[in-house]
Amino acid sequence: MDYDILIIGGGMVGASLAHALKEVPLRIGLIEAVPLASVGEPGFDTRAIALAQGSKRILDAIGVWEAVEALGVSPIRQIHVSDKGHFGTTRLSASEEGVEALGYVAEAGVIGRGLMASFDSLHHAELICPAAFRDLEFAEDHARVEVEEEGRRRDLTCKLVVAADGGRSEIRERVGARLLKLGYGQTAIIAHVVTDQPHGGTAYERFTDSGPMALLPNTAPEGTEGGEQGDRRRSLVWTVRDEQVDEVLLWDDASFLKRLQTRFGGRAGSFLEASPRCAYPLGLQFVRDPVRRRLAFIGNAAHIVHPVAGQGFNLGLRDVAVLAEVLADAVHRGSDPGALKNLRGYARWRRPDYLRVMAMTDGLARTFSNEFLPAVVARNLGLIAMEVLPPARHLLARQAMGLTGRLPRLARGLPVY
Ligand SMILES: Cc1cc2nc3c(=O)[nH]c(=O)nc-3n(C[C@H](O)[C@H](O)[C@H](O)COP(=O)(O)OP(=O)(O)OC[C@H]3O[C@@H](n4cnc5c(N)ncnc54)[C@H](O)[C@@H]3O)c2cc1C
Repeated sequence: MDYDILIIGGGMVGASLAHALKEVPLRIGLIEAVPLASVGEPGFDTRAIALAQGSKRILDAIGVWEAVEALGVSPIRQIHVSDKGHFGTTRLSASEEGVEALGYVAEAGVIGRGLMASFDSLHHAELICPAAFRDLEFAEDHARVEVEEEGRRRDLTCKLVVAADGGRSEIRERVGARLLKLGYGQTAIIAHVVTDQPHGGTAYERFTDSGPMALLPNTAPEGTEGGEQGDRRRSLVWTVRDEQVDEVLLWDDASFLKRLQTRFGGRAGSFLEASPRCAYPLGLQFVRDPVRRRLAFIGNAAHIVHPVAGQGFNLGLRDVAVLAEVLADAVHRGSDPGALKNLRGYARWRRPDYLRVMAMTDGLARTFSNEFLPAVVARNLGLIAMEVLPPARHLLARQAMGLTGRLPRLARGLPVY
């Protein structure tokens, strides 16, 4: 057997799993198609990722938080939620929850560099890159994976294949995994913007008739691009309807900033500068069965959610923490890590979290894009209720921090093995 586990996809989720398994006596191969230093590496761009408090704990427990923090993260100390043109607002605060921060913002590229900085120190793991997954076959006691490296194909054998190959997973296609897929007719436009006021660690979530907008504090470290903008730098995720995308991308900076100011209002100050914009089409996608014998799906290969509540990578990191724990326990018992009964334990554990996040993000994306009067009144009453009822607000804050449900050992700061 070449490896115990082959992780296909070295994005943020696949690379995190290699780190999470570092204490477990398993030989790991991590296969990534795109050279890691390449600008085109899809998982590690400048998109701002809101990391829940629970995700910080997982990154800390797997030994990469320090490197990520040194490269640049911005704590979220307050979250302000509002509904454009209506009365409802609610605020969550770290001090009320007794934590240092409700979450943190780090760019995907920063998380990626943090993960790769110490990859060489993982003695049990080998990075096979650039190498692309091409095919796989399952036998009773192993899986055979065909990869292509520099135009040549070779076979690798392992006990378990972990599909971490993202939203367009070829592994999912290859095995014919059933997918639940819904479109929103919405696209996220992302950009970094500069305001005349410091962000003060406040994240804004604003619901508008075309879809939600998020404005996240994102101070770039000194000496890096945007470093001179200090704490006036923020990251914007502006959801627009698909038919508006071409028009929005054509606006020059002045028109973009003017329209942004009108939609967002003055709560974050005046918008002064904007970086070039990128567009990400949005949808909801869940693999119906995230495991089969010798195969488990994690991260975007298993699920894609609307970025309205910044949940996608957080959900993927919880996949990592749970799968690592299930595999560590299997090894401890002398059980086959690729056995279906072990993998079913992972799928069962993850299901309630999947359902909760799917319902929450889908509900927020649809209800808050709806101008039907009863829906407007109901959601605004919901926001007011959150504002005036501390227990409801506390529950929302715990969920935003990724601290509800059955927490795996890594999310409690404990070693996995
Ligand atoms: C606009 C936007 C904002 C977001 N904001 C947040 C946020 O605030 N908080 C949050 O938690 N999440 C957020 N997300 C979601 C988050 O970006 C994703 O959940 C996360 O990047 C998924 O990581 P992944 O490693 O699963 O997938 P990917 O990043 O897609 O990585 C997959 C990897 O597999 C590799 N690969 C693919 N095919 C092959 C193959 N055949 N062979 C070998 N390798 C292969 C790819 O090269 C890639 O490196 C946001 C998403 C968007 C679009």
